[in-house]
Amino acid sequence: MTKPQRVLITGGAAGIGRAMAHAFIDNGARVHVADLEVARGGEPVGCDFTGVDVSDPESMDTLFETVLAPNESGGLGGLDVLCANVGIAGPTGAIEDLEPADWDLTMAVNVRSAFLSCRRAIPAMRAAGGGSILLTSSTAGITGFPMRSPYAASKYAIVGLGDTLAMEVGEFGIRVNVLCPGSVDGERMRKVIDAEANLSGQSASDVRAAYEKQVSMRTFVEGRDIAAMAVFLASPAARFVNGQVISVDGGLETLRTNWRT
Ligand code: NAD
Repeated sequence: MTKPQRVLITGGAAGIGRAMAHAFIDNGARVHVADLEVARGGEPVGCDFTGVDVSDPESMDTLFETVLAPNESGGLGGLDVLCANVGIAGPTGAIEDLEPADWDLTMAVNVRSAFLSCRRAIPAMRAAGGGSILLTSSTAGITGFPMRSPYAASKYAIVGLGDTLAMEVGEFGIRVNVLCPGSVDGERMRKVIDAEANLSGQSASDVRAAYEKQVSMRTFVEGRDIAAMAVFLASPAARFVNGQVISVDGGLETLRTNWRT
């Protein structure tokens, strides 16, 4: 019998990260979730959990001590898969209306957290002879996203981090790939759509319809669609998939929304 994969998921208490946690558990993995809260508006995932602000370096060091500790001390005893998934939407608005503090927070949660988790995961994976890192970017990290400049910039940074780390650690058997979800059905996109509707004077249903129209398949995706790709990319079936930026989005054609029609 193969040993269960040991998986750490940041931002795994809700949304896509939560779907990833369930999918890895269903696949026989041992999962540790790191998040600010155990569960938002639902049951806890039902795996190891650390409450942590992933943008804080000291807290992240403590998290990795916990995760890498031997089984008998409650840890995973090593790490095979890191899903650096956490991310916030950041502010919505024209750049001249955005505050530096909102820019800094978006960068800290979305980019610094990935840096902090990779710098601790990679030595552990090297020691184990390999591993798989999945960074969650966004289609906004490929096309740009009007009125969401801090978010888009943070997601381009994730693509740069992933491409670079793939080159840096591939020779150690560590694969690094970047996932780009399209618009996911759920609370997060509802808030984004409401913010856009408020600012642009459109109805929320018109904003949502405009998002759907930008996708070849005319749809939002679900967390489980991203999770299924994560499980595949972390599996031996994807053993030579490295340094890739992979969208799960129904075929996004553009992210140009109806701000100035
Ligand atoms: P979500 O808001 O549903 O869940 C994010 C989780 O991260 C929450 O459980 C929250 O508590 C946690 N979190 C936030 N800040 C934290 C912090 N400082 N420390 C620890 N935990 C923190 O988000 P989601 O929609 O599942 O998004 C997950 C990832 O996918 C993000 O990187 C996001 O940018 C990306 N993404 C989402 C969508 C979408 O439509 N939802 C689209 C493309 C990309």
